[in-house]
Amino acid sequence: MPAKTFYLETFGCQMNAHDSEKVVGTLMAKGYTQVPTPEEAGLVLYNTCSIRDKAEQKVYHRLQQFKRNGKDKVIGVLGCVAQQEGERIFERAPNVGLVCGSASYNKLGELLVQIEAGDRRVTGLSLDTDEAFDTPFTRRDNPHRAYITIIEGCDKSCAYCVVPFTRGPERSRTSESVMAEARRLAAEGYSEIQLLGQNVNSYRDPTPAGWNFATLLGRVAEISGIRRVRYTTSHPRDFGRDIVDAMDSNPAICDHVHLPVQSGSSDVLARMERLYTRDEYIERIDWLKNARRIYSITTDIIVGFPGETEKDFEATLALLDEVEYDSLFSFKYSPRPNTAALGLEDHIPDEEKQRRLVIVQEKQRAIQIRRNAGLIGSVKEVLVEGRHQALEQWIGRTSDNRTLNFTHPLDGAASLTGKYLPVRVTRSGPNSLVGESVTVV
Ligand code: SF4
Repeated sequence: MPAKTFYLETFGCQMNAHDSEKVVGTLMAKGYTQVPTPEEAGLVLYNTCSIRDKAEQKVYHRLQQFKRNGKDKVIGVLGCVAQQEGERIFERAPNVGLVCGSASYNKLGELLVQIEAGDRRVTGLSLDTDEAFDTPFTRRDNPHRAYITIIEGCDKSCAYCVVPFTRGPERSRTSESVMAEARRLAAEGYSEIQLLGQNVNSYRDPTPAGWNFATLLGRVAEISGIRRVRYTTSHPRDFGRDIVDAMDSNPAICDHVHLPVQSGSSDVLARMERLYTRDEYIERIDWLKNARRIYSITTDIIVGFPGETEKDFEATLALLDEVEYDSLFSFKYSPRPNTAALGLEDHIPDEEKQRRLVIVQEKQRAIQIRRNAGLIGSVKEVLVEGRHQALEQWIGRTSDNRTLNFTHPLDGAASLTGKYLPVRVTRSGPNSLVGESVTVV
């Protein structure tokens, strides 16, 4: 392999984005330099996602690029496709030299040594790890917001989901190590922390302290210097009342909950093995709507799950009207390897899934237009994330996770990035707000 240079491209969720930050830090600690293009790199890594078939195909498309040139490079596949496909990747993409799933990232250093020694094919595919990937070398991409993984893997078995097969069983980090990392980040100037896990709500401190998620959330939010704490992803079954109480009593915990419902039909939820009914889900929404603060609520929807009837689908549409989500991610069901849903009958044609997807998205768009318009005139605090030069606006994010771009009297003369500012909302669209700063810095 030529000089110790690497290129890394990340697909998928925030867990993957944060894993990549850890991988980058680990490689740099081993003397590697990150380069911006695969052409310049000796080691080309793809941190992959297999949650949907489309995401997986994208990775194979990337691997094709190295078929003719790139013989002097080591190509590595990391993440969920690596774990799911294992050594089959070597057959499908013979130029790949490293295959490593996220549960084996602790072994990345050893694997790199083998590659440097000339091994042509190395793998890290064990799922029987009992620790989370916790490294002091994380190279964070954002100077103000930091991710902290608190739990890895998942012990649920939702019928459509590959995660339990690709990320292994749940492993919670100790509260001590999470708190130490959060305090260190606050001391380094990070003001927003995002706690990550496939199911953060099932966090269980493995030490005798035995903190649950609500306790951990509250304690992180109490750290001096931390202005905002977010968390993702929640599972309605494990989303307890104590989490809402922790949010209500700590203003540093953001005004936003992402609570994936997937379907508004209890029958579909049962087939999905989601472990809650529509009524139980609505009960959690009611906790949030009757809380002391106003929380924005977002969700995930899957349309076209096997056996989803028109009546089931209408129940999902009715749920959107009932909850009035602030935003949602919607997807067509796509069959994934190893999952229980593969054994279900009554698969729905793609055109019908597409029709349902469009209906969901149009309905949600109308809801968002209405909800965002209701915010005109209000003043919201934003964390300034950067500047949109073409629009001559600063880019801000509200506590309730909206993009609020705004003008400011200083107008680009000084950087506002990283500051918290009050902004009055003056205009709204379906996906973002526009406003003007109400103070001069
Ligand atoms: S809770 Fe369900 S959807 Fe979420 S990661 Fe676990 S198995 Fe997948």
